[in-house]
Amino acid sequence: MSTVPVSNFLRNIIDADLASGAYAGRSDAAGLPLPTVITRFPPEPNGYLHIGHAKSICLNFGLARDYGGRCNMRFDDTNPTKEEQEYVDTILDSVRWLGFDWEQDGQSHLHYASDYFDQLYLMAEYLITNGHAYVDSQSAEDMAANRGSFSEPGKDSPFRSRPAAESLDLFRRMKAGEFADGQHIVRARIDMASPNMNLRDPAIYRIRHAHHHRTGDTWCIYPMYDFTHPISDALENISHSICTLEFQDHRPFYDWLLGHLAEGGFFTQALPHQYEFARLNVTYVITSKRKLKQLVDEGIVDGWDDPRMPTIVGMRRRGFTPAAIQQFCERTGVTKSDGWIDMSVFEGCQREDLDPKAPRAIAVLRPLKLIIDNFSVDDVIDCTSPVHPHFPERGLRNFPITRELWIEADDFMEVPSKGYFRLFPGNKVRLRYGYVVECTGCDKDEQGNVIAVHCTYFADSKSGTEGSANYKVKGNIHWVSTAHALQAEVRLFDRLFADPHPDAGGKDYKLALNPNAKEVVQAYLEPGMVAAQADEKFQFERHGYFVADCIDSQAGKPIFNRIVTLKDNWEK
Ligand code: ATP
Ligand code: MG
Repeated sequence: MSTVPVSNFLRNIIDADLASGAYAGRSDAAGLPLPTVITRFPPEPNGYLHIGHAKSICLNFGLARDYGGRCNMRFDDTNPTKEEQEYVDTILDSVRWLGFDWEQDGQSHLHYASDYFDQLYLMAEYLITNGHAYVDSQSAEDMAANRGSFSEPGKDSPFRSRPAAESLDLFRRMKAGEFADGQHIVRARIDMASPNMNLRDPAIYRIRHAHHHRTGDTWCIYPMYDFTHPISDALENISHSICTLEFQDHRPFYDWLLGHLAEGGFFTQALPHQYEFARLNVTYVITSKRKLKQLVDEGIVDGWDDPRMPTIVGMRRRGFTPAAIQQFCERTGVTKSDGWIDMSVFEGCQREDLDPKAPRAIAVLRPLKLIIDNFSVDDVIDCTSPVHPHFPERGLRNFPITRELWIEADDFMEVPSKGYFRLFPGNKVRLRYGYVVECTGCDKDEQGNVIAVHCTYFADSKSGTEGSANYKVKGNIHWVSTAHALQAEVRLFDRLFADPHPDAGGKDYKLALNPNAKEVVQAYLEPGMVAAQADEKFQFERHGYFVADCIDSQAGKPIFNRIVTLKDNWEK
C-alpha cells in the first residue's frame, strides 16, 4: 500500500521554512551539515505505546522521511520513579515494527534526556546566576495556594527576591543531597500574575531521592519536563517540535527558556519551534495510559498485548499491519481541532492492506455435519481453488471432498426465512470448489437440535468442469472434509468497547465493555493450514482476516486471531 502524503498545516509550515531558509546552513558539533528538517518522537518510558503514539510516530518520522530530514528517537526520562528499562525496550521495538528507524547514514539518533543532565544542570545554574530563576523554599501547600487560579493572579513567593548567590548556594546543596524531597525547588522567575498559569514561575528542578533507570544514584535532583523538553530539542538541533494541543499553553515558556539560554550563548543556531496538532481520538477506543493499565491490572484483558488492546503490542498480536496503521495515520490527517475518527476507518485500512496480500483459506467456525448420502464412503476427490482469486500466479490450494463434511451451522435452516438461499430441505446450493448438492433433510437429537444435515450431490456439477454450467443455484457455501480438516482454536476478536465514546464525560468505561469482544471457538480448517506460520495472515473465506497467533501457536498446531471481519458489522 503506498502512502500518498496529503498536505496539512505542518507541511505548509515546513514548506515556508524551506523557502525562507530558516534552518538552512546549520551544522552539528563536529561541523558537519545538518538536515533542514529534524523532528523527534519523545515518549516517556513509563508505559506501552498505543494507537495515539503511532500517530505521533508516523507524523514525525513521516515528515522527516518526506523532506529528506531526520527524526530522532528520544526518551523523555526525567521522572525516575515511573520509568523502567522494560518500557524503553518495548517502545523501541514498537517503533521499529511500525516501520521506522533512527539509524541514518551509519549514525544512531537514539537519545535520552538523561544524557543531558549535566548540561541541564549548568543551564539552571546560569539562569539562577542571571536572575532568571530562584530557589523557592515554600511548602508545597503555600506554593499551590500562591499560584492563584484562572480567574485570580498568583502571589509572589517570599523567597522570590532571594539574592542570586543564595539561590545558587542552595541549588548546589540540593544537588549535593543536603535536603529532603520537596524542601526546596528551583523556579523560573517570570510573572506570578500572568494569565498563562504556565508562566507563573514554573518549577524547573526538584529534589527527588530516587534511583534512575539509567543514571542510577548519581542525581537526587531532577529537571522538570517543561524545562528539559525545549532544551533537549535545542541540543539535538530539532527544527520542528511537534506535540499535541494540550501543550499550546506551554509554548510561551518553551520560547522564553530557549531565548534566555541563547542569550547566554548556550545555543547559537536557529532555535526549534513548537507546533501543536489535535491528538488522535478513535471511537470505541480508550488511550489513557492509566485506564489501559486498569484493564490489565484488573484482568479485564489478558495483558498489554491482548489483541483487543489499542497498544502497539496488542495491535501487532491481533494481526493489524504496520502498512495499514501508517495508511490510517496518513488518511486521518493533521488538524488543529480535536475530533473523533471512526474505528471503521481504521478497520477499512486493514482490509485494504490485507485483501491483496492475504492467501485465502477455508475455515468452518461453527461446525455442523453435512452428509452426502449418495457419495461413496471410500471416495476422496480432490478439489482446487486459487490461493488468491485476483492473482492466479500465486497458484492453487488443494483439499479433498468426502462423504462427510463440516459446514457452518447457519448455512442450514430447517424452515428457511424469507430470502434465505442456503441449505434447506429441497433446496440446491453449491459447495464451493466442489459440487452442487440438494438438501434432503436433517437429523436431530432428543432435544430437537439439528445434529446433521443430509443431501445428495450431482456428480456432473463439479466446479471447473463443463457440467457445472448446467446448474444455476443462488447459495454457495464453504465446507471441509471431516476426515481431513485441521481442528484449531480460533479467537474471534472484536472492538473492546460497545460505546463509541467509552470514557467521554467522565463515564465509567468499564460499563461500556463489549461482552462479545472475544469469543473462542474450535474450528475446522482446510488441511493445508497445518503449515501456517506464526504471524502469517489469511482471509478465511466469508469470515474475515485472521492471523496465526505469534505467542500461542505451535508448529503444526496454529491458533488464529480474527483481525477484522470482511464487512463492517457496526455500521448503523
Ligand atoms: P503521559 O500522560 O504519560 O504523558 P502520553 O500519552 O502523553 O502520556 P508520552 O510518552 O508523553 O505519552 O507521548 C509521546 C508522544 O506521543 C507525545 O509527543 C505525545 O504528544 C504523543 N501522543 C500521545 N498520545 C497521542 C494521541 N492520542 N495522538 C497523537 N499523539 C499522541
Ligand atoms: Mg506526555
